[in-house]
Amino acid sequence: SFHKSKGQHILKNPLLVDAIVQKSGIKPTDVILEIGPGTGNLTKKLLEAGKKVIAVEIDPRMVLELQRRFQGTPYSNRLTVIQGDVLRTELPYFDICVANIPYQISSPLTFKLLSHQPAFRCAIIMFQREFAMRLVAQPGDKLYCRLTVNTQLHARIFHLLKVGKNNFRPPPKVDSSVVRIEPRKPRIEVNNKEWDGFLRICFNRKNKTLGAIFRQKNVISLLEKNYKTVQALKLSQEGAVKDTGSQMDLSSFGDFDEDQGMDMDGGLDDDDGMEVEDGEAEGSQSEFKDKVLGVLKEGDFEEKRSSKLTLQEFLYLLSLFNKAGIHFS
Ligand code: SAM
Repeated sequence: SFHKSKGQHILKNPLLVDAIVQKSGIKPTDVILEIGPGTGNLTKKLLEAGKKVIAVEIDPRMVLELQRRFQGTPYSNRLTVIQGDVLRTELPYFDICVANIPYQISSPLTFKLLSHQPAFRCAIIMFQREFAMRLVAQPGDKLYCRLTVNTQLHARIFHLLKVGKNNFRPPPKVDSSVVRIEPRKPRIEVNNKEWDGFLRICFNRKNKTLGAIFRQKNVISLLEKNYKTVQALKLSQEGAVKDTGSQMDLSSFGDFDEDQGMDMDGGLDDDDGMEVEDGEAEGSQSEFKDKVLGVLKEGDFEEKRSSKLTLQEFLYLLSLFNKAGIHFS
């Protein structure tokens, strides 16, 4: 019997398993990481194609079944099974990751992989179709969201295969897609807390103009508070060693399921043309507000919308803010 809560949907179509392995471009010298091997249908083909497979599986019954399946075969000494939750497991070195994962761990797993070092060559992963389409979305696409920009900061992502429900037993409720994730080399270095704070504000209302978003009272007061803190720190730490802020901080990527939920109800044009009026900054805030809007004007961003901004534009706008002493964390 299968565990629904563990997302146990076993791949039963051998042609599909072959297609996944073939599209992975595995070399005979590769160390392969597999996540959630289950009964081992994919594992077997991975063992045929690569040098070594390290499989992380949470369910002890599946671990036993897997070990039994390969015991006494020529594969057994090239397979290592780690029993545990992949999100709590320190990942070993690997060249390539191939996995049919439980969909509930899609977001945290993606960011765990993208923060892994040294960077692997690529990851071939089966996701829920909608999640996959968010990863590969381009500016202007309906599914372009914070998750998209956050992932594409660290990797290039390609859609490889559409997979219908009936390739699994038991069939899941949703369709799936296999994508290829290639970590960027070299990495694009950002201060993760700044980046995350910035994107949360930009995508809070992704179809409003940035001008409207950055005129909001709560946004202005948050940025003004940060500004004053930074100024105060500067005065008190004059000459101190600078924090490079380039460490990966997983917690700052936030919860993408929450983000997913938010974007799902917002179609591309439901709030077109509307400006935020009620919460606009005023009075004592106005001087700082002019500073913020000045940055948007400088980069010609006032009339632009996050739903159409490229990764390069987000990086550029954040650098303009930071140059002006405006911070998001
Ligand atoms: N790879 C197999 C296949 O394609 O037939 C099984 C895929 S099934 C969708 C997901 C597998 O991941 C299950 O075997 C499940 O027990 C395991 N799993 C679920 N949560 C996990 C976690 N947090 N860490 C590691 N494995 C997990």
